[in-house]
Amino acid sequence: MTIHFDCTQCGKCCQNLRLTLSVDEAIGWAGRGHTVQLLTEALPWVSEPDTADARVLYDRDRSFPAMSGSVAFRIAAVPVAHHIGPCPNLQPDMRCSNYEQRPRICRIYPLESRPFIGLDPASRLCPPEAWAPAFPVLERNGKIADTETANIVAEHRRTAVDDVPVLTMACHALGVSTAAFANEGFAVHTFDPQKLAEALRAVRDANPNQNAPAPQPWTVATNRRSTLTMLAGAGCEAALVQRGADYLGSFPDEP
Ligand code: SF4
Ligand code: SF4
Repeated sequence: MTIHFDCTQCGKCCQNLRLTLSVDEAIGWAGRGHTVQLLTEALPWVSEPDTADARVLYDRDRSFPAMSGSVAFRIAAVPVAHHIGPCPNLQPDMRCSNYEQRPRICRIYPLESRPFIGLDPASRLCPPEAWAPAFPVLERNGKIADTETANIVAEHRRTAVDDVPVLTMACHALGVSTAAFANEGFAVHTFDPQKLAEALRAVRDANPNQNAPAPQPWTVATNRRSTLTMLAGAGCEAALVQRGADYLGSFPDEP
């Protein structure tokens, strides 16, 4: 299958989004006074699963081990640039004022950043005319046509793994110890941008591979009563929350 693409500069991908960032990108973004949040999710990890599964490998490599009550989890903590409405770098003519330093996720859109999911044009914000057959080839049989772009995608995925020790320490330093039950949503942690930039810079420069903090207990959040009952019954420290600024739930609240 061949996918053709050219950006129409409609600007849709620069509005109302959460952009996944590396730690270095998050320090830069928050350092300019823009909002960066940490999204956390808790993946049940009672035993080492089948590592032939690309999704399982992805989950394992971008997360760190943790305990909630007596149950083992892995915690995925992802920094995201959050903006309601237009990105602070989006100019009226739909050009990016931070083009040279824009995050990798902006450079690779509309490509898929997750390795186990193929690109589906219907899932992207780009208008139909952006996928016209006359445009250059973006992907052929699931392979990115342009080497430079493929390298950026690979770098984006690599930093998500390399940043795990820093993010482990950052959660500890910032007092983040709640994560959403995986596949139900994300717990959202929002900080003053400058404080977050300072905290990330401090833990990044503290050689986190050699100075790992003592593990902290985690609370697993859900907005579904049935999930809460299941988690508590299994021995987790669980909390019932509602959808809102601190919890992005995929399902309706089940009080
Ligand atoms: S940084 Fe630039 S490319 Fe990325 S969302 Fe903002 S305006 Fe768009
Ligand atoms: S949504 Fe697609 S076509 Fe529109 S600006 Fe973003 S990448 Fe370009």
